[in-house]
Amino acid sequence: MTLYACSSNPGKLREFVLAALPIQTLPNLKAIPAPEETGATFEENAALKAAYYSQFTAELVFADDSGLAVDALNGAPGVYSARYAGDNATAAGNNRLLLERLDGVANRRARFVCAIALARTGDVITTVHGEVEGEILHAPRGSSGFGYDPLFFYPPRNCGFAELSPEEKFQVSHRGNALRALAAFLQEHRFI
Ligand code: IMP
Repeated sequence: MTLYACSSNPGKLREFVLAALPIQTLPNLKAIPAPEETGATFEENAALKAAYYSQFTAELVFADDSGLAVDALNGAPGVYSARYAGDNATAAGNNRLLLERLDGVANRRARFVCAIALARTGDVITTVHGEVEGEILHAPRGSSGFGYDPLFFYPPRNCGFAELSPEEKFQVSHRGNALRALAAFLQEHRFI
């Protein structure tokens, strides 16, 4: 069995390969126009991406939709995490805006959320979910990971996500948790 990932985000791809699953990137992914992410939730966006990309292969396809939800910002940036500072936003720009919005805010509670949808030939088979709780730092820390990792403090380890090795992050992260749920589903339903 091959499980095709339909993401070109290098940060996500580096983490997918840590899962104990036969994951490869969907062939020709770059030549396929990306669908518009119009969902109101991570689950909806993961499902629409997986259903769309699975039309281009007979194999199983999964899509990850993920982001950061900050309590004091009513769950923002949420599904807009990748484009928080605008359509062509960089991780540094998104992180700067997040720090600005939280300037003087005492409640720093936040969570990373990851929805993964599994699909075949245009139909969604299941959607799984993973989360991890943490706090938003006052300044970036560490150089590992991607996206908002330098601002995400993880209390159980007393350090930031960008200070963890990829393997350490994967053990506790929203994406690690979602991929472990996906692996359990695939085993239970005898796909693997
Ligand atoms: P998506 O491609 O629409 O799912 O956007 C995901 C965005 O959420 C990324 O571009 C990051 O900004 C953020 N994000 C998701 N997962 C992580 C993570 O593990 N660490 C840091 N940022 C993340």
